[in-house]
Amino acid sequence: MAESFTLLVMPRVLVIAPNWIGDCVMAQPLLTLLKKEYPNQPIDVLAPSWVAPVLRAMAEVDTVLETPFKHGALQLRERWRFAQILRRRGYSAAYVLPNTIKFALLPWLAGIKKRVGYKGESRYGLINIMHHDDAAAPRAMVPFYSALASAPTDKVPTQLPRPALLVTQTQIDEVLTALGLSAKNKLIAFAPGAEFGNAKRWPTMHFARLASSILQSYPDAQIVLLGSSKDNAVCDEIKALCPSVHHLAGKTSLTQAIALIASSAAIVSNDSGLLHIASALNRPVIAIYGPTDPGHAPPFSDIAHSLSLRLACAPCKQRECPLGHQDCMQKLPEEMVWQPLQVILRVSA
Ligand code: SF4
Repeated sequence: MAESFTLLVMPRVLVIAPNWIGDCVMAQPLLTLLKKEYPNQPIDVLAPSWVAPVLRAMAEVDTVLETPFKHGALQLRERWRFAQILRRRGYSAAYVLPNTIKFALLPWLAGIKKRVGYKGESRYGLINIMHHDDAAAPRAMVPFYSALASAPTDKVPTQLPRPALLVTQTQIDEVLTALGLSAKNKLIAFAPGAEFGNAKRWPTMHFARLASSILQSYPDAQIVLLGSSKDNAVCDEIKALCPSVHHLAGKTSLTQAIALIASSAAIVSNDSGLLHIASALNRPVIAIYGPTDPGHAPPFSDIAHSLSLRLACAPCKQRECPLGHQDCMQKLPEEMVWQPLQVILRVSA
């Protein structure tokens, strides 16, 4: 963070990142487009600390500035002070990805002339190149963010680059060694959490049964459960049902989790941030959707299976099932996942 206080002469571009991991990944193609538009201007990204490792894995990013603000707080005085730091860094343009007024305030207070973003919370004046989305037919996430690289239009951009993250072999070797995992044995990652809410979670019993099927066919396979400490309880349940899995939720940094995913033969995930990381690392993914629309934020890997029962009540987009049964996930059997996963593992062998 020391570099954020340095007086910089070369004009730079500022991107204010979304607060969610998955959204940050899906904003990466925007950075590719901005790098083309500003080839000689370093791109800084302002982001909360919990998503910063994702942005550090993007080739286009020069510096990640971690937001010093409390989540959800306006903190006007702190924002004004931080804006003066941004002013000294000398930005030619700012792209504001969150839709809130408080994030649009920063580039305005910093005197950045070009301030691009969606209307969001009616941010007239704060945003001076304003884009609009159709609430009745919202854009998928990658076109939503990528559209900001061009002049505002009703047309949805097409032929966009796929999200991409970079991990080095050294990073992979270091994390495998640190966690006592073997580089020789197949690594399969499960991401059974979903910060958004319980409705998005495939049942732990299904994950455990899937793990048992994998280990029957591949006894040397290393199945790792990834997630934050918030996913501990869910991963405890899977571990209790299938003790051979490696419960790493809350025990790795996000940087380590990214490196583990990069070395995985496959990842099985709910619709969560780790799914989109796997997709941006072009790992084979099986994405399990229940209350959300698989078309809104699909995985982009060369090998990607989006599974959904597409019930009449879906996508309800609720954190908890309003019908109380969560059939969209409960009734999606492990065989439906195991079938494509077997093909992936056979090919990777
Ligand atoms: S209402 Fe339907 S889609 Fe929504 S959580 Fe319940 S079962 Fe799933």
